[in-house]
Amino acid sequence: FDDRDGTIWFDGQLIPWRDAKLHVLSHGLHYASAVFEGERVYEGRIFKSTEHSARLVRSAELMDFKIPYSVEEIDRFKMETVAANGIVDGYIRPVAWRGSEMMGVSAQHNKIHLAIATWVWPSYFAPELRQKGIRLAISDWRRPAPNTAPTAAKAAGLYMICTLSKHKAERDGYQDALMLDYRGQVAEATGANIFFAFGDELHTPTPDCFLDGITRRTVIELAKRRGIKVVERAIMPEEMEKAEQCFLCGTAAEVTPVGEIGPYRFTVGDMVRNLMDDYSAEVRRAPAAKAAE
Ligand code: PMP
Repeated sequence: FDDRDGTIWFDGQLIPWRDAKLHVLSHGLHYASAVFEGERVYEGRIFKSTEHSARLVRSAELMDFKIPYSVEEIDRFKMETVAANGIVDGYIRPVAWRGSEMMGVSAQHNKIHLAIATWVWPSYFAPELRQKGIRLAISDWRRPAPNTAPTAAKAAGLYMICTLSKHKAERDGYQDALMLDYRGQVAEATGANIFFAFGDELHTPTPDCFLDGITRRTVIELAKRRGIKVVERAIMPEEMEKAEQCFLCGTAAEVTPVGEIGPYRFTVGDMVRNLMDDYSAEVRRAPAAKAAE
């Protein structure tokens, strides 16, 4: 992904894609002192840009470092990067990490870097699969307890078990993996939150040890607008037997129906289809026009 045309925003400058490199002794690489975001651009607008910039800053704080830019500045840098690359519909990846001045667990004064890349990235899962529902394996890796890792941060280190889980699932012929948490409760997929339809109610795990996704919160809002009762609670894996529908949601996954998780089967019914439609309308909705001055 490094050998292509384009422009990446790197520590205050827009530079050629191929030149956006860092030193091998970067603390972020050795000790996972790195945080990132995943955002989508729809029709030239970044969906919930400020929420994502604020989460990036907050993730860094949870990792005990401070990004040397404000949320407003990060919003502006993202738009500059999108404009420089002529992206109308695409994905944005801001990443911040500790640099290479000192090598060792402690690197209190290493420079904090920020880079922002953007590219065209239409669909996370193949469109045909999105129609009939993806297949998930159940991972052996558990989401860690909040006193084991900074679980509310979108931190690089928390993705180690996600990559392991997803690679194994893909090797076994699945598209993704469901991860349980340290208590054995249903948590989330490797890069998206999860919802289940029980009758006409929508249930989703309480996000107390994994990311409370921006898409998750949007979906809860959309469901409420439809008058659907949304319940956030602890969900045990055996309960999936009784759920009729299931979907994943995240910036990249958007709303993706799930047909199968381990031994459990789900249909792609109205609840999922309606929320898929609502979500794709919501992300493309033009912001309300400002009152005339
Ligand atoms: N959980 C994980 C592990 C993720 O990587 C993501 C994607 N950022 C989400 C949940 C969903 O978050 P969001 O809706 O904010 O993209």
